[in-house]
Amino acid sequence: FGKLKSGLAKSSSKLTQGLGDLFTKRKLDDEALEDLEDLLITTDLGVATAAKVTRHLAKTRFGQDVSADEIKQTLAEEIIRILDPVARPLVIDPSRKPHVVLVVGVNGSGKTTTIGKLAKQNKDAGLSVTLAAGDTFRAAAVEQLKVWGQRTGCPVISRENGADAAGLAYDAITESRNRGDDLLFIDTAGRLQNKADLMAELAKIVRSIKKCDETAPHDVLLVLDATTGQNAHSQVEIFKDMVNVTGLVLTKLDGTARGGVLVALAEKFGLPVHAIGVGEQADDLRPFEAEAFAKSLVG
Ligand code: GDP
Repeated sequence: FGKLKSGLAKSSSKLTQGLGDLFTKRKLDDEALEDLEDLLITTDLGVATAAKVTRHLAKTRFGQDVSADEIKQTLAEEIIRILDPVARPLVIDPSRKPHVVLVVGVNGSGKTTTIGKLAKQNKDAGLSVTLAAGDTFRAAAVEQLKVWGQRTGCPVISRENGADAAGLAYDAITESRNRGDDLLFIDTAGRLQNKADLMAELAKIVRSIKKCDETAPHDVLLVLDATTGQNAHSQVEIFKDMVNVTGLVLTKLDGTARGGVLVALAEKFGLPVHAIGVGEQADDLRPFEAEAFAKSLVG
């Protein structure tokens, strides 16, 4: 929680400073409400959240003197209401042997790192976990996953550079099943420059997974870099078109001023947020909790 709080300090100080400037002894009139709405939009909270908060204040406090603290309180309550339904941990069913988690997202969003962190958490919880290096085009991505495999003591299934990712996914499930594994993470490529290719590749991977286990993939995690702010919205749209995204992980919430984007995403898409990344190390993945997040964000 400490790391989340310090991580979101930039987001919350932007908001706190803005609110402080706006609401020193000020009556809540139309102009003040408009300024507030503008401020909330600049913090990446999203137009819908900004409108809701201002509407709520207009209804309850119009014409009265309000303090920045009272506005913060209302804002935190509104954010908790939005985040509560999406704050849901990734639930692994080890009886599936293996539970298959496909991990998608653009290059650099933090897929491989998130897989490493999730592998550690689940290994520590006593599950046997395998990692499949499905980004077969980037040698560096495969190497990086192998480093995480060593660090967490999880086997890594990989193929030579340029190998067919769908074939690798099929083999990974077979191997993992033969070993009696509980959980398999499949990493994927994230080259957005060529959307049609990526779409075809992801579709082929999913078909290949289903040939091996028709109930899989059991989860399709989309990893998003919070520092990209509003770009995260279009990434959700793009990946939702390509695969059946079942949940999100937001990374790099340490030290970004754009943490508010998570609220906007929750409001717009309603997809479960399974965890949040607050650093590069194995332990820097936090369960996503609505109240803790809202309080850290609002400051
Ligand atoms: P991928 O291309 O999607 O697999 O992304 P990577 O896992 O390689 O991550 C890209 C970079 O972001 C790496 O340098 C990671 O160490 C870094 N990274 C990933 N998650 C986080 C996070 O939560 N916080 C910070 N500060 N860095 C992160």
